Amino acid sequence: MFAMFSRKQAADGSRKSDHRADLGLTPLQGPAIDAAEQGNLTRRNLLLSLGVAGVASTGGALGLIAYRDDAQAMAAITDPAQEHQWCRVVDLRKCTGERKCVSSCQTRHGLPPNQTWMRVLSWEDSVGKEFFMPVPCQMCENAPCLDVCPVSATFHNSQGIVLVDQDACIGSRACMAACPYEARYFNWDKPAPTNRMPEPSPNTPEFPANQIGTVGKCVLCADRMPFTKELPSCVDACPNGVHYIGDLVTDVAVNGRSTEKLSTFLHENNAVRFKEELGTSPRTFYILGNGQPLGGPSEGVK
Ligand code: SF4
Repeated sequence: MFAMFSRKQAADGSRKSDHRADLGLTPLQGPAIDAAEQGNLTRRNLLLSLGVAGVASTGGALGLIAYRDDAQAMAAITDPAQEHQWCRVVDLRKCTGERKCVSSCQTRHGLPPNQTWMRVLSWEDSVGKEFFMPVPCQMCENAPCLDVCPVSATFHNSQGIVLVDQDACIGSRACMAACPYEARYFNWDKPAPTNRMPEPSPNTPEFPANQIGTVGKCVLCADRMPFTKELPSCVDACPNGVHYIGDLVTDVAVNGRSTEKLSTFLHENNAVRFKEELGTSPRTFYILGNGQPLGGPSEGVK
């Protein structure tokens, strides 16, 4: 059962163990929490308890469109047989551009500096105030990258995450050209040895298995959440709680410090999606509040 709690409780950690359990997710596999550890929950154990089985200065438009109950609409069309349908919420009100999400992701997945799964854009509003916008793969429901792949190497997994089968990818780069969010990169060089996930994470080509001549992208730590009980690296590493992992099925979002009822959180904060006018139906929602524009293509952005 979902239960909200105050920001004060989130800040002082008094409900830290409970908010992760509030996700209401059932372990897919993995050990149960030892009863002796219940009183001294580590971050990893907290995840067991919830059962989760460069500066780029850009010009142009943000193209953000106001949230219109899209999360609930998506939840309604998800496969009821699936235990989870993942999404992401990015609270721009709290982003100070520290880019800990980027560095943590690079480390967890063994990525070199020129291969990033997350960019933090630096923008300037109409009065010259700088604000930041993390941009990972938006996990589009109508993903242009899927439609153009000549060998169907990129696909949605059963929980809505867009992945690339590295063994199937022939490096056509059509997906890179089709992605309006510049969320993909090409492996021009022989990548560093893959930072393989700890057992019992899956060891399949869909998860970090970079190969020369293929395309890579964010996997939303889908290789870890259900298996090693870790939150996505960006969620876990942000010192300001900017990143939330959300579940459209249980209608819950967590950022490692607080738990929110996803639909209420989005609705009350008038969340928006990036370039929604393109019809990509991203499963990434942004909460504005640092001078970002709400509507028109270049409103408020220099
Ligand atoms: Fe595909 Fe780009 Fe959308 Fe990610 S952001 S699903 S790579 S089109």
